[in-house]
Amino acid sequence: MIIAEYMDPPAKVPGTQGKLLLNADMSGYTSWRAGGTADRLYTPADLADLCAFLKTLEKNEPVHFIGLGSNLLVRDGGLRGTVIHLHGALRRIDLEQRRQNGSDAAGQFGVIFAEAGVASPKVARFAATQNLVGAEFLAGIPGTVGGALAMNAGCYGHETWEYVSQVLTVNRCGEVNRRSPKEYRVSYRHVEPDVELGNRLAATCNEWFVGAWFIFPRGDGAQARLDIKHLLEKRIASQPLNLPNAGSVFRNPPGDFAARLIEACGMKGEKLGNAQVSEKHANFIVNLGGAKASDIEGLIDKMQARVEEKFGIKLQREVRILGEQL
Ligand SMILES: Cc1cc2nc3c(=O)[nH]c(=O)nc-3n(C[C@H](O)[C@H](O)[C@H](O)COP(=O)(O)OP(=O)(O)OC[C@H]3O[C@@H](n4cnc5c(N)ncnc54)[C@H](O)[C@@H]3O)c2cc1C
Repeated sequence: MIIAEYMDPPAKVPGTQGKLLLNADMSGYTSWRAGGTADRLYTPADLADLCAFLKTLEKNEPVHFIGLGSNLLVRDGGLRGTVIHLHGALRRIDLEQRRQNGSDAAGQFGVIFAEAGVASPKVARFAATQNLVGAEFLAGIPGTVGGALAMNAGCYGHETWEYVSQVLTVNRCGEVNRRSPKEYRVSYRHVEPDVELGNRLAATCNEWFVGAWFIFPRGDGAQARLDIKHLLEKRIASQPLNLPNAGSVFRNPPGDFAARLIEACGMKGEKLGNAQVSEKHANFIVNLGGAKASDIEGLIDKMQARVEEKFGIKLQREVRILGEQL
């Protein structure tokens, strides 16, 4: 990641090993390359260090976990509180040797543990090298495992939580927990604690993902690598990957495609400031260079309004927007 030159130099927090930046320019931490500054941005040295750092925070300090910022817009007025930046920090990925409740008795499955800061495409490639199949779809999702868990990221008919056998979480008291997928309500690009876990967390503290165990069937690794190659070629052909973007801006409404609806409103190529509805894929907004977060958000609002006016469908945002307007 590029860190803006005018950012304050890294500071140290007593008792921790990670890197704390004050007034961190979030355009260096988001794939749209736009947006304001975060009051504080902490990159932990490892999981134990993250726990130690969380314990140092004031009780009412707002905390935001991010991975690669590939689904995120930070408004120009900046983000109050502390951003925890996990990409490249929590980076352990391993093949687990243990069996999952005996289900692997015939050696038909393999379990991969990946920390939340591991890039999703790395999970796809690692699985293929272990002759495990099913993870290929992750190769085209340019975020982290933490972001994929939070978003239930998916494509080409597969979603992250299909393969999750357990998750590891940390709460703001710095305590680590292992949880079952049964403790979450998981749907299309949406994940939340179920009622019971939600009540428990409301009474104690928020928590975030720091890792996950994924279970994949054994198969042909060479074929999986070939499928990854084809999948990436397909993406290059259909997505504007040469300009900063955050993937699909809106979720697809039931039975339809957000891109089709936006294109039918004649919005391909429409600009606001230096933000543009991609000419290549109408559900993508690209930063032509120096776009403000307000240009991007203004264009999002316009797309939503135009589709609602023409089709009576209110598109739901997939990208997350944080922070304050200027
Ligand atoms: C070119 C391109 C193509 C894309 N294609 C797809 C696609 O096919 N399918 C798809 O689903 N998405 C796609 N995306 C969107 C994005 O890559 C995914 O949503 C990805 O999973 C986000 O991961 P991230 O690490 O970048 O998350 P971030 O953008 O950093 O964060 C996204 C959200 O997750 C939360 N979060 C991040 N880490 C954690 C954590 N450890 N614990 C709890 N919450 C956390 C953040 O607070 C935020 O709300 C695409 C994006 C781009 C730029």
